[in-house]
Amino acid sequence: MTARLLDGKALAARLRAGLAERIAALPFRPGLVVVRVGEDPASGVYVRNKDKAAREAGFASRTLHLPEATSEAALLAEIAALNADAEVDGILVQLPLPAHIRAEAAIAAVDPAKDVDGFHPMNAGRLASGLPGLVPCTPRGAMHLLAEAGVRLRGARAIVIGRSQIVGRPMAQLLLAADCTVTIAHSRTDDLPGECRRADIVVAAVGRPEMVRGGWIKPGATVIDVGINRLPDGRLVGDVAFAEALPHAGAITPVPGGVGPMTIACLLENTLDAALARRSGPALSGRA
Ligand code: NDP
Repeated sequence: MTARLLDGKALAARLRAGLAERIAALPFRPGLVVVRVGEDPASGVYVRNKDKAAREAGFASRTLHLPEATSEAALLAEIAALNADAEVDGILVQLPLPAHIRAEAAIAAVDPAKDVDGFHPMNAGRLASGLPGLVPCTPRGAMHLLAEAGVRLRGARAIVIGRSQIVGRPMAQLLLAADCTVTIAHSRTDDLPGECRRADIVVAAVGRPEMVRGGWIKPGATVIDVGINRLPDGRLVGDVAFAEALPHAGAITPVPGGVGPMTIACLLENTLDAALARRSGPALSGRA
């Protein structure tokens, strides 16, 4: 048996095309502002990609690029101005921020209704409480991939490896909301291979190249590999040993071309959700 490949690039392209159609039919253009502080080179690439994808889909997108020396107070004042700007539906503060600015202060300053990254404690709390809200983009993209795989979620045993605020925890909450029986594993978990072998769905969000071995995968399981790791030879690999996992898994995401492209597509989806929710009432609807 060889696993079916879950093509995130193709799915993301379809999602973006669908969003573009919906936006073209609106009487307004939803607005997204990406805030970048300083000159982190990787952030420059990410911000350009987000802005380009947003414009292509028909959003009114712009980047607010502030100098490295911007104080925390000045950044919070800029965020407050964006919160008050009726034309702005989504605000994303690109991380990492310079060391003198507390990321948690910047995240908490964003209006939860415009928090298209889904990182604000209010949105995290709503997700943990089973309430609708804006959901972090990468887990939302992973849920789309599971839907694409056609896998049964209700009652299925899922393991999420990693418990970060941006991937592991929200991923586990979304799986729980979809009626999976969820195990959250982390660096202190006893017998990770054994925990994995019992899972019908494996989501790896660790940041360790090829840590999850093929023999850890239950036959027929669905594997969502969130990890993006660059090896010394320049190759990009996931957290799962892909070639080893292929004969075991029923379906698996490649790296690159799996979860990665879904993250930007879901940022756009969140921005449209935020725009529609803000203009039609207080209830947020950003759930995959
Ligand atoms: P973090 O470093 O914040 O979290 C990593 C998690 O993995 C922690 O919870 C940690 O456990 C756990 N972990 C570390 N070592 C082990 C181990 N040996 N066994 C089990 N668990 C372990 O990473 P992120 O959540 O931000 O990102 C995870 C990966 O996903 C990275 O490769 C990142 O590049 C990628 N990523 C990809 C995105 C995409 O668009 N595809 C978007 C975001 C991230 P503990 O809490 O105990 O320390």
